[in-house]
Amino acid sequence: METEKLDQNYIAHTYDRYPAVLVKGHGVKAADDKGRVYTDLTSGIGVNIFGYCDDIWKKAVEAQLDCLQHTSNLYYTEPCAHLAQLLCEKTGMKKVFFGNSGAEANEGAIKAARKYAAGKHGADTYTIITLKDSFHGRTITTLAATGQDMFHHDFLPLTPGFVHAERNNLADMEKLVRENKTAAIMIECIQGEGGVHVLDQKYVQGIQKICDENDILLIVDEVQTGNGRTGSYFSYMNYGIHPDLVTTAKGLGGGLPIGAVLFNEKTQDVFRPGDHGSTFGGNPIAAAGGVSIAERIDDTLLQDVRAKGEKVQAFFKADPDVKAVEGMGLMIGIEPKYAKAEDVLMTCMKHGVLVLTAHDNRIRLLPALNIPEDTLMAACEVIQEALAEERKIK
Ligand SMILES: *Cc1c(COP(=O)(O)O)cnc(C)c1O
Repeated sequence: METEKLDQNYIAHTYDRYPAVLVKGHGVKAADDKGRVYTDLTSGIGVNIFGYCDDIWKKAVEAQLDCLQHTSNLYYTEPCAHLAQLLCEKTGMKKVFFGNSGAEANEGAIKAARKYAAGKHGADTYTIITLKDSFHGRTITTLAATGQDMFHHDFLPLTPGFVHAERNNLADMEKLVRENKTAAIMIECIQGEGGVHVLDQKYVQGIQKICDENDILLIVDEVQTGNGRTGSYFSYMNYGIHPDLVTTAKGLGGGLPIGAVLFNEKTQDVFRPGDHGSTFGGNPIAAAGGVSIAERIDDTLLQDVRAKGEKVQAFFKADPDVKAVEGMGLMIGIEPKYAKAEDVLMTCMKHGVLVLTAHDNRIRLLPALNIPEDTLMAACEVIQEALAEERKIK
């Protein structure tokens, strides 16, 4: 049976997939089973940081496959220790816990925040304030953290202890801190699924001040924005803040499932043996790939990411079919003035370019960080043509 049919017959229908069976990829090019080649500006939703089947990443993974694939966390292994060292050196954070996904990383940070606050301020200090339009994952607890009602209904009751503040409204945050015994404030500096909304510098620094003054932990969700995506190693570094817990996943492993919680000096000793764990967490193959990725995210690459991002933003800001452009580095949201983002996506796909959408009718670009500039700009021209085409249809 052909793949599409098999999938529809046997895979639970949680995804509405686009009409392509991808079979092979190299760099930012992906080919489907009919031999069509696409320029992929999605990188598997920000996962394939250096594109498909990148040679350096592949060699690192293959070398580890020849050693061992899994040990359990009862033993030491080199790749995860090495990856933790790199993450700490690049951020100044002190310790790392490895899981397998963004949601699992956020669960870990939420548990750490609850334990810290209960120990320090008493068991009734457990509320975590997150933002409206945020996205933190699909488990019952990370759904509770996610400030979008559309994901909540049908799954109630969710884990208690989460309230949602209005984005870029410090007075609303202050009010919620007054009203709730608050353990932590958790933010994405750039909301990804929520529409590529960049938080204001003043607002984020205001949150840091509130946290400092009230011994509230600051958690930054870098699942999508991390690992070089925004032109800094983590997006919080663009804001001059010092979070207590940082979570990441997507790009961390360059394509294999791995997530992490980073702890600073304040939170590094919150977890004791037995408090938390994950059978697959820190898997040596995923971690070996991750080491090869982390080693390559250096100042030269980050500068290149910023330069390419600015070029794309300027390109679309000059386009009369575009209402708004927002983003940082190679995380870019484009709001069409006339068309529906979903229609533009389909037209782009027909013309050989893969893009994402996000809420608030936005086209979302998360290309591989090493995408050649001419390939990127050629794909942007295809998007521009699709925007014009959709306007004419309207
Ligand atoms: C994708 C995402 C998650 C969830 O990650 P999974 O690996 O799908 O569990 C959490 N937070 C943010 C900001 C994300 O973009």
